[in-house]
Amino acid sequence: MAARKRKTAYTTFGSRTDVGCVRDHNEDSLVVAPPLFVVCDGMGGHAAGEVASEIAVRVIENRAPAHADVEELGQAVEEANLAIIRAAHEGRGREGMGTTCTAAILENERLVIAQVGDSRAYLLSKGRLQQLTRDHSLMADLIEAGHITKEEAKVHPQRSVITRALGSDPRMLPDLFEIDVNPGDRLLICSDGLTTMLSDEEIAQILARTPDPQLCARQLVNAAVGAGGYDNVTVIVADVTGFTEVRRRKLTRKTRITAFFILALLAAIIAAAVYGFNFASDHSAYLMEQDGKVAIYQGLQGEMLGLSSSHLYDLTDVAVDDLQPGVANRLRTDGIKVDGVEAAEALVDSYRAEIAAKQQAEADQQAAAEEAKTAKEADEAGASVTPSAQGGDAQ
Ligand code: MG
Repeated sequence: MAARKRKTAYTTFGSRTDVGCVRDHNEDSLVVAPPLFVVCDGMGGHAAGEVASEIAVRVIENRAPAHADVEELGQAVEEANLAIIRAAHEGRGREGMGTTCTAAILENERLVIAQVGDSRAYLLSKGRLQQLTRDHSLMADLIEAGHITKEEAKVHPQRSVITRALGSDPRMLPDLFEIDVNPGDRLLICSDGLTTMLSDEEIAQILARTPDPQLCARQLVNAAVGAGGYDNVTVIVADVTGFTEVRRRKLTRKTRITAFFILALLAAIIAAAVYGFNFASDHSAYLMEQDGKVAIYQGLQGEMLGLSSSHLYDLTDVAVDDLQPGVANRLRTDGIKVDGVEAAEALVDSYRAEIAAKQQAEADQQAAAEEAKTAKEADEAGASVTPSAQGGDAQ
């Protein structure tokens, strides 16, 4: 048996099941696991039909091939048959329980079907509805033999007699069908709760006028229930998208993934740039002249993308005119870049010390000049007194 892993399918589909208006429980079971679609209609009385149909869908879901291989799909249905017989022997469900089965794999433009009983597969193609499967029922045999008409079959007392089902004969073989389909075709799989309530024409009209497959499945079931709902009704609608659509969707998906990674990369680059910009801003500062004083700005000097990243951190009391002419000129024109505000404050402190030293030197120089002047004046005064004293001693 092929690997269980199924390929991702691009089929659009819808499904619905309903107990109907007469039965008190639903014996139908279904699988919607693209590309696999299965409808089973259980029989055998309360707490038996649903057991048989449930066993069938689980076995088929687990054993069906991953691709449209009709032989392997048929083998999966045969295994489901044996599983139901075995379950009845083991006391699960009831002896004689059984189920119909319409199992299909729709892979791109290839459709394979394994069929047992009177559940059906239809194909709506170019507006025309074609029944793909043949019923294993007494009514189908009588109609084919020309003994009764389709209309007579609808009210025939033995209209529920099934001539082949899963769960009775261990040698049972399903009918196998294998066809090519086209994009735009629509597959319908259903239990007889639909086909005994609606004519093929009514089914075709609903299939053709309702583009959304899920809405279409709901409308089919609602129509069957509205017509009386004498039986459980189960419907799967699957649209054939084909190779072209698959390729288009694959490309679209690949394009989306590529776009996602490009956007993610751009976002990472922008985030890194913003982080780097903020980091640089937090660790940068510069000094400029403002109102004749030395101002400390935190951030990067200039603008990026028209935005300024710096702000005034401190307007100091240091007068630019008190600084060295070269430094003062630089502060008035380009500014002086430093590594952060702490370095800026240290530089301003050095300016203060430099100014203080300069002022101290000037004060010392002035004091020395004053002292020299005073000494000179004292010397000059002493020189003018001495000749007079000398003259007195002589007298
Ligand atoms: Mg039924």
